[in-house]
Amino acid sequence: MNTPLSNKQFLDRLNNDKELRNRRDELVKGQHPETIVITCSDSRVVPEFIFNCSLGDIFVIRTAGNVINEGELATVEYAIEHLKVKHIIVLGHTHCGAVHAAIHNEQGRYLGPILNRIKANISNICDELEASKINAIKEVSYIKEKFPQYEGTIEYKIYDIETSESR
Ligand SMILES: [Zn+2]
Repeated sequence: MNTPLSNKQFLDRLNNDKELRNRRDELVKGQHPETIVITCSDSRVVPEFIFNCSLGDIFVIRTAGNVINEGELATVEYAIEHLKVKHIIVLGHTHCGAVHAAIHNEQGRYLGPILNRIKANISNICDELEASKINAIKEVSYIKEKFPQYEGTIEYKIYDIETSESR
């Protein structure tokens, strides 16, 4: 079965949008995003939409529950050391399934690294919104601890999937 996703509309848009096409062409030489956004894989949380970004604007790392395990940490290092990003945002969100699963001690075959990390971050907090905030705050602290020489900004935000506000 074929995927329902098609690239055609995007290609049509590029054909009709000179600014976007120029941006795409310019990026062939290399990417220089200024900001890393570490966010959840939740399909309702789309950082390019939320922050009104275009091609090449943000370096996005997505993982369920926006946690930073080994691969994510390596990706952050790449962006800091090689792309020289100036800002890092850990973007948690309301109604996060991963945070919910951690609070309710759900199990899975491969979910351990993610759920255990969220559990360690939130300890015994049961309120989902509060847990999402603490989870993001702890990941911010973790980045600061791992990259003490990094001089850019590091902050967290919570995206509200009901109002589309990020604060
Ligand atoms: Zn989530």
